[in-house]
Amino acid sequence: MNTATDLASLFRFVLVRTSHPGNIGSAARAIRTMGFTRMELVLPHRFPDPEAHALAAGADDVLEAAGVHAELVDGLIGSTFALGLSARRRGVNLPELSPREGAEQALAAAARGEQVALLFGNERTGLENDELARCHAMVRIPSVDDFSSLNLSQAVQVMAYELRTVMLGDAPSEAPPEHDRPLADAAQMERFYEHLGQTLDDIDFHKGRSAETIMLRLRKLFQRAQMDERELRVLHGILADAQRMAMLAGKGGK
Ligand code: SAH
Repeated sequence: MNTATDLASLFRFVLVRTSHPGNIGSAARAIRTMGFTRMELVLPHRFPDPEAHALAAGADDVLEAAGVHAELVDGLIGSTFALGLSARRRGVNLPELSPREGAEQALAAAARGEQVALLFGNERTGLENDELARCHAMVRIPSVDDFSSLNLSQAVQVMAYELRTVMLGDAPSEAPPEHDRPLADAAQMERFYEHLGQTLDDIDFHKGRSAETIMLRLRKLFQRAQMDERELRVLHGILADAQRMAMLAGKGGK
């Protein structure tokens, strides 16, 4: 796992709720020029579409292989490191990286054999908080404050270019994998968050406060931890016991 092509195959560009099929085509072209091929589309407004193919300018292989999903988590299956591209800081308090720093961290993850996802939002509304909450860091392209939003496919191009630049600059990584056990992927993390949310309800943790805010905070905490599958199993076990105790207490109280 050390040629540029091997590394590039670990990356996927995830376009979320894209409005204009032309942007999907331009994004396919942008990633193809930098040696990437994998695109995942989450709830695209129009796809497939002739406009996408016209703007792909020959990168039809990328479009034809693109996965189309109804849920973001399905576009993230298998990935253990995700960066969310956003022009604006959102409510989610993620570490904010420059495109270069993002590329370096993403490449370091890929050099350990991890699959990496780059998330891009809708043209008008960008990535929502709950979408950014699935990321490990946010990347902001340092545009000017009063006109900060790039065209979607141009943001894709900047990120793909940075990744390629870092890839070409680095000697192939000989480093042994840092994780000796498989990391939990996005789908496993999603199941954990569902279990955690359910357990917090069962133990009446919220007491009228917003469940959404606390869940976003907890997601941030656990995303930072990058847990492996064994650690996740332990946490599921703790939650299951808490649920069992809550049920017993409920019965006792009646
Ligand atoms: N008003 C939206 C802009 C959406 S542009 C917002 O504030 O996010 C469509 C997508 O392009 C964004 O969701 C983001 O993924 C990417 N993008 C555009 N400009 C960017 C920038 N300056 N930094 C990082 N990503 C950017």
